[in-house]
Amino acid sequence: MPFQSLLDEIVATLRPELGRAGEVASYIPALARVPAARLGMALRTCDGEEAFAGDSAVPFSIQSISKLFMLTLAMRGLGEALWERIGREPSGNAFNSLVQLESEHGLPRNPFINAGAIAVADRLVSMFDAKAEVLALLSSLCGEAVDFDKEVATSEATTGFRNVALANFMKSFGRIDNDVADVLDVYFHCCAIRMNCLQLARAAGFLCQDGRHPYTGEQVLTERQARRVNALMLTCGTYDAAGEFAFRIGLPCKSGVGGGIVAVVPDRLALCVWSPALEPSGNSLLGIQALELFATRTGLSIF
Ligand code: GLN
Repeated sequence: MPFQSLLDEIVATLRPELGRAGEVASYIPALARVPAARLGMALRTCDGEEAFAGDSAVPFSIQSISKLFMLTLAMRGLGEALWERIGREPSGNAFNSLVQLESEHGLPRNPFINAGAIAVADRLVSMFDAKAEVLALLSSLCGEAVDFDKEVATSEATTGFRNVALANFMKSFGRIDNDVADVLDVYFHCCAIRMNCLQLARAAGFLCQDGRHPYTGEQVLTERQARRVNALMLTCGTYDAAGEFAFRIGLPCKSGVGGGIVAVVPDRLALCVWSPALEPSGNSLLGIQALELFATRTGLSIF
């Protein structure tokens, strides 16, 4: 079945479920206001074919999906040295958990939990104007200007007590070089980037084509680095639900509490789903179902 018909069919199949279960993230007003009854899907193949359905053009807060692109910049800038600062093991704990940091001497388990992304932000702050670089990377990858939602960024900063704690705790172990406020400013702004499904499917395109830019063909990451990002997405990209994602979907994924999930089918395509109501781990409830239907109907899986 052509991808366009498949996405139309998946959105139509799940539409009756919209708004029935799950909770929209409510820790800040700008996210709590987002209507739960939304569902969008988009994909882009390595050959440049695109398909999209439902609310695929509606911008949403990408939240932790930004951790993927922060990591990309840090890997590109630092190579292997990055791994002196950040681990590569799934945490099995909530994305904003503090518990493992003490016994692991302030070394975050992986770059996709909050502690890890804050440590990545610290590396970026040491290298360049990190906020500008993240926006420049995303804009280049999706071919359209991408920006921060200022209201979300401000709310993240005024309510992000746990992230402040994580950053200070890591700093106390000597794991953060820069001023905590500067590092968190980057982290909170990255959480507050607004994009839609189609833009994210394009932006993740380099991950399904051995690190090559979806439009220019330049290496965004080396082939080996891109493979490693996919490995981290599979094992750590969906918080403590990574096992369930591997079991049900079988694709590298990265989610955010805005309800977006990016998934990669290596050598074939990148896709993005968005639906704001979340399951308890913080992943989009209908997003998971949409990806499961996609993987089942196409037979696409890395396994
Ligand atoms: N802004 C959220 C936080 O820092 C992002 C978390 C997420 O999407 N998992 O807690």
